[in-house]
Amino acid sequence: MGVFDYKRRRSDDVNVGGVHLGGDNAVRIQSMANTSTMDTDGSVSQALRMASAGAEYIRFTAQGVREAENIGEIRRRMRAAGCDVPLVADIHFNPRAAYAAVPNVEKVRINPGNFVDPGRTFRKIDYTDEEYRAELERVESAVEPFVLECKRHGTAIRIGVNHGSLSDRIMSRYGDTPAGMVESAMEFLRVCRKVDFGNVVISIKASNVVVMVETVRRLVKAMDAEDMHYPLHLGVTEAGDGEDGRVKSAVGIGTLLAEGVGDTIRVSLSEDPECELPVARALVDYVATCADARHIEGGYAEGYDPVMPDRRVTVAVGNIGGRNVPVVVAEDCGAAYPSDCKPDVFLNDSHLKFRAVDASELLCNVPEIAPDEIILLSSRHANRSGELKAAFHKLMSAGVGNPVVVSVRYDGVSADEAVIRASVDCGSLLMSGFADGLMIESDALTPGQSARLAFGILQSARLRITRTEYVACPGCGRTLFDLQTTLARVKEATSHLKGLKIGVMGCIVNGPGEMADADYGYVGAGVGKISLYKGKECVEKNIPAEEAVERLVELIKREGDWK
Ligand code: SF4
Repeated sequence: MGVFDYKRRRSDDVNVGGVHLGGDNAVRIQSMANTSTMDTDGSVSQALRMASAGAEYIRFTAQGVREAENIGEIRRRMRAAGCDVPLVADIHFNPRAAYAAVPNVEKVRINPGNFVDPGRTFRKIDYTDEEYRAELERVESAVEPFVLECKRHGTAIRIGVNHGSLSDRIMSRYGDTPAGMVESAMEFLRVCRKVDFGNVVISIKASNVVVMVETVRRLVKAMDAEDMHYPLHLGVTEAGDGEDGRVKSAVGIGTLLAEGVGDTIRVSLSEDPECELPVARALVDYVATCADARHIEGGYAEGYDPVMPDRRVTVAVGNIGGRNVPVVVAEDCGAAYPSDCKPDVFLNDSHLKFRAVDASELLCNVPEIAPDEIILLSSRHANRSGELKAAFHKLMSAGVGNPVVVSVRYDGVSADEAVIRASVDCGSLLMSGFADGLMIESDALTPGQSARLAFGILQSARLRITRTEYVACPGCGRTLFDLQTTLARVKEATSHLKGLKIGVMGCIVNGPGEMADADYGYVGAGVGKISLYKGKECVEKNIPAEEAVERLVELIKREGDWK
C-alpha cells in the first residue's frame, strides 16, 4: 500500500442502536432535525423524510429533561411507522438532560466545552499546574458516572468538540486553537478509556475549514500516540446554504475522507435537513470510488509534514505562483462571466507559457520544464487527488519550483456532482499545500459556473477571499425564527461586502461562541427577537426580528465597513 493509495484509518467498531460505524463499516451519513423537539408530530414527520432521504442516524436537540424524554416518544412513533433509524440527543450545558436522554436514544452527544464546565466567560484564568490537575479531576468525577450510565444502557456517546465553545480551562491554557480543541477531546476520551467504555465517537468541528482539517489531523495523531482508535464524525459547522455551503463542506469533509479519515459525516446546511443527505451521499460515494483505484507510486517529499503542511514554494511566472494568491484559469470560449467571477487568466489569450503535463506520465519521468513555464497538471486516475498529490511530491523531490495550475474536468455527471467532486479533489490538494491555480471544467457547468466554483473552493481553503463569507448554522430545535428566509434576506442586503464575515445563528445559547471569528453576527435571542454582534460583543439586544436586517445594515455602515 503506497502513501497515496486510498486507505481507511483503522478505527474501532461502534454500535449505535444496531447500525454500526467505524471498523470495516461504510462511512455513515447523518443529519439533524430542525423541528422543536416538543413538537412530536412535526419531528416524527421530518425524521421519516430524513430517513427516506438516506439518513442513517438522526439527531434532535435536547435543551432540557422534557425534550430528552420526548425523543423517546418520537422514537416510539418512528418505530411504529416502521423506521429503525437510530436517534441521537444533542446536549449542551445540561447534564440532567443528558442523563434523561440515555434510555431514550441510541447515542448522546455531549460537548466537552460545556458538559462539566459552565458557559464560556471569555475570562483569562491563570491556572497553576496543581489547579489545572484539580480541574481535570473534577471533570473526571463528573464524566465517569455519565459514561457508566451509558454503558449500563448500551447507549453510545459522541464527544463533540466545537471551535468557539471550548471551556475557560482549555481556553486559558491553549487558546481557541486546534491544540486546545484536541486536548478538550482527549480529556474526555481518557475518562472513557479508564472505565473501558468503547462505544464512543468523536467529532471536532469548526466553521473555518482550515481549522477543522488541521484539528482533525492533529486529533488522529494525538489518538495514535495514545493507541486510541475511536471512530470519527466529520463536519464543517455553520457552512451556510446553497453552493457555498456545499463547497465548504466538501472541501473540509472531502479532504479528510480522501485521506482515509472519517467514519460518519454530517453536511450542515442552512436548508431543510433532507437536503443535506444527497450531498453527504455524493461525497462519501465519490471518495469510495478511490478505494478501488490502482496503486499510485511515490512517497512524501523530504521534510513534508502531512498534519500541518507548508505551502509548496514556487518561483512566480507572471502573476502565477510565488507569493501571488492562487489564480483561476479558463479557456477563453467567448463566454460572458459575471463580474465577480471572471477568471484571472485565459489560456488561449495569455502571454504566459503553459505546459500540459499528465500526472501519471510525470510520476514515470519528470520532464524538463523551462523556468518560464507554468505546469498545467491533470490526472485521469480514479483516485485523482491521490495521483495529483503524488505528482506534487515528485516535483518537490526533483527540485522543480515552477508554478502548477491544477486542471480537472468532470464530464458525464450532474452539476451537483461536479461541484462536489471538484471541491473534494481541488480542496484536498489546497489543504495539502499544493496548487498555484485552478482550472475546472465540466459539461454540466457553464464557464461562469466553473469559475465561480473555483473561486468558492479557494475561499473555502482561505487562500483567496473574493466574496462575503456567511457563517450560518443549520438551525435546530432551539431556532426561534425562519433561518432560511432570514439568511436569504441578510445575503441580499450584504452580498457585495467582499471579505466581510457575517454570522447568522439560530440561538443565543451556542450562536455567539460558534460563529467564532465573524465580523458581525445576527443571532436569535428569543421568539421574534434578534441580537446583533460586532465581533464577540453584543451591541444591540432583543430587537424585533422584522427590523433586524435593516439594523444590521445600519450597524455595518456605522462601523465603516459598508462599501
Ligand atoms: S447555533 Fe443554530 S444549530 Fe447551533 S444550537 Fe443554536 S440554533 Fe441550533
